[in-house]
Parts: sequence; structure tokens; C-alpha cells
Amino acid sequence: MSYSYTFNIPDLPDPPKPARYWSHSHDDAQTAVCEICPQHCRIKPGKAGRCRVRVNEIGTLTTPYYGKYTSLAIDPIEKKPLYHFYPASQILSVGTAGCNLTCTFCQNWQISQGAIPAANLSFMGPARLADLAVGRQMPAVAFTYNEPSIWAEYVIDAARECRKRGLRTVAVTNGLIEGKAREDFYAVMDAVNIDLKAFTDEFYRNLCGGSLEAVKETLRYAVNETDVWVEVTNLIIPGRNDSDGEIAGMTDWFAETLGTETPLHFSAFFPTYKLTDAPRTPAETLYRAMEIAQKSGLRYVYAGNIGGTRGHSTFCPACGEEVISRQGYTTRCQVTGEGKCPKCGASIAGRYSR
Ligand code: SF4
Repeated sequence: MSYSYTFNIPDLPDPPKPARYWSHSHDDAQTAVCEICPQHCRIKPGKAGRCRVRVNEIGTLTTPYYGKYTSLAIDPIEKKPLYHFYPASQILSVGTAGCNLTCTFCQNWQISQGAIPAANLSFMGPARLADLAVGRQMPAVAFTYNEPSIWAEYVIDAARECRKRGLRTVAVTNGLIEGKAREDFYAVMDAVNIDLKAFTDEFYRNLCGGSLEAVKETLRYAVNETDVWVEVTNLIIPGRNDSDGEIAGMTDWFAETLGTETPLHFSAFFPTYKLTDAPRTPAETLYRAMEIAQKSGLRYVYAGNIGGTRGHSTFCPACGEEVISRQGYTTRCQVTGEGKCPKCGASIAGRYSR
């Protein structure tokens, strides 16, 4: 059972913040071109980008949602989901409004797709967020609930404040970020969970308003060019992205590009937002996907958003010992602080408490 705890924080005054990661359009100095994500929005004065949180004010791009949060709670880290990053720990989690994708099946659509004015939201500066985590004895802070890259300026500033205080930093993201913003963002993260929503560009284009190649590129970058711990989530939607061929294509690419030690979470869909004509994902579909991924060589494959006992725990790839057991959000980790199986001493990928 989830044990999220929601805070009641009094408002503080919020300073206006100019955006980083943008330039003036070559053909119109008043038009801002946002450089955070591959949507490359050209934003005219008085208008916002596609994500709705980056606004051109008289020729300058601004971030009126800087530090403005819609959600603030304590979650088990398994809820992100991160299964190999300090298992059984808790994490202070924060998010704002908006998104650079328009997924028809978004489970947080009220905050990601709704029009929530910044003026209606409470403000919490980067240092105050980090102090709150310390005060609540949290070991880590997560930027989650909506897409964190669209308020990258705040996330990066807050993550730096967290690190100054010895806190770990986590992002749950759709991977749609590029260039200098991506470099700066990943430089201050300790762990990420990246959505790989499907393995066809058609799915990304028609159901999400994005591009598969951009997400694959961020996955490749995060795993191969940074020290960030990476786990990946694939939401399986019946009739949309659940064919054996698509899953096998994805898991073969995954093994080859991201390695067999990177955890993959298959997650069950339930009808929501604009996608109400597809049924819930049967548990059997997730188990079939797990078997396909295991045939591709992946060592840590999970089934989420379903009950039952299968697909939740971590087993030693060498001796088969159950090294991390999970029932709901109750987690028991036996992996040693050095990341070893307690029975045979084989390495278990991830980061663990010493
Ligand atoms: S972050 Fe927002 S404004 Fe910037 S390019 Fe992406 S969708 Fe457009």
C-alpha cells in the first residue's frame, strides 16, 4: 500500500525567473526558440511553449513555474519506480504542471495536460526544498509527477542545493531533453527512471506527440555517457504496443545499447484520460513481455501496476536467490552494501547502502 504523505507548506513570495536554454529566433528577435527539448518551440511574445510553462515575456523567455509545485509528498523509492537504487528508502517527491508530450493515456493528466495557472500554485525555492528534505530526514529528493525537464532551471538549482546537503537526486522523466539542458540536468542527478513508451515512431507521433528516436538517444546518453543510475519503464497498452515483435525489437535493442544490467519495468495500463477504449493490461501480457526480455538477455525485468507475487522481486542472476523481496511497497533488501548477493557473492547491479 502506498504511504504518500502530503505537506501543507505556507506560500512564500516567488521571484520572476528568466529561462536558460533558449535563443532569439534568427528571423525575429522577439521570438524565442526554446532549446530544452526536440519540440524546439518558437514562442512569440505573450505565448507559451507546447509544455505551457515556458513563456515569452516581451521577447525574453521566462519560467513562471520556477519553484511552483502542484504535488509534494513522501513516497517509497519503489514507487518511482527505482528497484536497484537504495531499496526500501523513502524519497521527498515534487512536481509542477505541464508536459512536453501530450500522451492520450497519461495517468497524471490533471497536472500534465490541464491549464493550471502559476499564480494558483505555492512557491518553494531550491534551498527551501532541500532544507525540507533534511528536516524530514529524507535521504533523497525526486523530481516527478509531471515531466521535470520542462522546469529544468528549477530542477537543476534544487538538485544542486540537495547535493550540498548530502542528499541524492532522482528524476522520473520521458527522456525528451537534449543539448546543454540535458548535459546540465544529468550532471546533477544520481538516478533516473526514463519512460520508453513504445518502440515505434508511429506510437510516439500519434499517441504522445513526440519522437522515439529522441528518447532512444537520451537513454543511450544516460547509460553510456553519464554516471547516473538508470532504470526504464515501458507501459504496455493492449492493441497499441503489446505485440511480441515490438517487444522483442525493443528488448534486443535495449540489451545491445543499454546493457543487460539495466532494469526494465513493464507496467500495466488502465483506461484513463483520452484512451478509454483500450482494456486494462492483463497480467499475462506483462509476464509474456518479461519472458521476451529475459530471452534478450536482460537480467532485471519487472512487472508493475499489477497485484500478485510474480514480477516484483529481484533474484540473483548467478544463483537465483531472492535478494530483494517486494510485496506492494514493503521491501526487504538483502543485497550487501557492496552490491553483492548474500548467498553466492555475485554482483547485483545498482546502488546500495553501506
Ligand atoms: S521544453 Fe517546452 S517550450 Fe521548450 S521546446 Fe520543449 S515543449 Fe517547447
